[in-house]
Amino acid sequence: MYLGRLVELASEEALFERPLHPYTVALIAAVPEPDPATRGRLAVLPGEIPSPLSPPPGCPFNTRCPKAEARCRAELPEFREVEAGRWVRCHFPG
Ligand code: SF4
Repeated sequence: MYLGRLVELASEEALFERPLHPYTVALIAAVPEPDPATRGRLAVLPGEIPSPLSPPPGCPFNTRCPKAEARCRAELPEFREVEAGRWVRCHFPG
């Protein structure tokens, strides 16, 4: 969920193996690595988290999304089934 909206719905296996929404990708990249030998830098999303009371126009994630394009700033993506049992709220999933 991002700003109170579902952004991706999938089986646990599919979600972790191949996340399709950029926010899901960012969340998984931010999971700390417990083994110090393989520890790297955590991925941190740039930008401020918008207020859920006053989200930006278009996709609520567009102010922080590395894939954002003009359409993202103008049009709220629908929550749509992109594969059987796989739902994503993004104009450009995957
Ligand atoms: S719709 Fe655009 S801004 Fe929103 S998550 Fe998808 S690519 Fe990013």
